[in-house]
Amino acid sequence: MSAPQKPHMPAPPAPARQPEQATASSSPVMPDWYQQGLPHIWLPYSQMKTAPAPLAARSTHNARIQLTDGRELVDGVAAWWTACHGYNHPHIRAAVTAQLGTMPHVMFGGMVHEPALRLASRLYAMLPGDLDRVFFTDSGSVAVEVAMKMAIQYRLNTGEPKRTKMLAFKGGYHGDTLATMSVCDPEEGMHHLYGDVLAHHIIAPLPQDEDSTSAFFQLLDEHAHELTAIITEPLVQGAGGMLFHSPAVLRTLREAADRYGLLLILDEIFTGFGRTGTMFACEQANIVPDIITLSKALTGGTMALAATVARPHVFEAFLSDNADHALMHGPTFMANALACACANASLDLFETEPRLAQVAAIQAHLTEALERCRTLPGVKDVRVLGAIGVVELETIANPDALRQRFIAENVWIRPFRSIVYLTPAFTIPPDDLHTLTDAIYRVLSAEN
Ligand SMILES: *Cc1c(COP(=O)(O)O)cnc(C)c1O
Repeated sequence: MSAPQKPHMPAPPAPARQPEQATASSSPVMPDWYQQGLPHIWLPYSQMKTAPAPLAARSTHNARIQLTDGRELVDGVAAWWTACHGYNHPHIRAAVTAQLGTMPHVMFGGMVHEPALRLASRLYAMLPGDLDRVFFTDSGSVAVEVAMKMAIQYRLNTGEPKRTKMLAFKGGYHGDTLATMSVCDPEEGMHHLYGDVLAHHIIAPLPQDEDSTSAFFQLLDEHAHELTAIITEPLVQGAGGMLFHSPAVLRTLREAADRYGLLLILDEIFTGFGRTGTMFACEQANIVPDIITLSKALTGGTMALAATVARPHVFEAFLSDNADHALMHGPTFMANALACACANASLDLFETEPRLAQVAAIQAHLTEALERCRTLPGVKDVRVLGAIGVVELETIANPDALRQRFIAENVWIRPFRSIVYLTPAFTIPPDDLHTLTDAIYRVLSAEN
């Protein structure tokens, strides 16, 4: 099929580099859809002038991605940490196909349906404590925005309108929208680009030792009167650089929230659904947040869906004869029936297949296999938790170039900041996992 003719439109700018250049010289000419479409695509987090041309994916299977030129890459990232059951799981396909035949989508305003309500009651049953009221959205950032709106309106509804600020943490990441950027790490995040446009919240170091803990409680003494909630990613700050903290830190946060009357929001968008070795990371600290956010692996990496789940005391603050006390939010594709069917199928797989045992096996392999990277020059730290393996370097001068070296090894690994990391599918075959860890060792050995 040829591109539609648009005689009156100016010609699109040529891509910065020809696609053939980015892949090895042996690669054949790219397909017509690639050549015609690439000049019209704006890629995420990319300096479009200099970024290597994107790969052309054709199909996927379990932990592998096939490219249009016939190459096959082992995926170390599981589609941005989402594809926990591997790609193309037949049970998910069957559930989506069945749902597609009866009702792909219907608006959720004033109407509900089986896939969404089944999912809500299942999430309630599997989440710790009494997290029992589910608000569905379609992306992680929006789920966090909803959590922030809940926390702010909770104060408005209960007569404390001055308490609208969040306490968030250095190294944190909660999304790319304007409100969520304001609770991301101010240096690693995009605060410097957006400056005064962002709302001002309080960003502190996590209370990890005696000094940071006493500073943390001092901060609360000074600011609790203007704060509504504490927000953090439990156990692992993902996009901030796969930074780990101990369960004790989460217990400190819970204790602080209770002492100062704050809501505790745990953003489990990355950590939820087994990634850290337990179904939810907060289980390892034996605490229950007041609000939790979920997305990424919620549908097993197949469709866009997110959820913000609140405990009864949060929800009850919105029950009123005053119409202004209702939560005013409602995405068009909220609780999309296909996505909810997908999430239900994903939860089935956690029940019928040994996912957490697979995570434990991955943890054991990553611990052993990545350890040998520790003595390589330029390596600062090696750390593993659940199905997350991290090799932190002193610095990565050129992440794009490093990624190209991994592609040459037939693995899909995306270094960022100063880390090379793996977050594979829990179903990854042992051989593919070895391919990933061997590639990291080989590439980092050759680097320095
Ligand atoms: C990915 C992520 C988000 C944002 O989710 P999107 O679906 O990309 O908007 C928010 N919080 C955490 C912890 C994440 O890892």
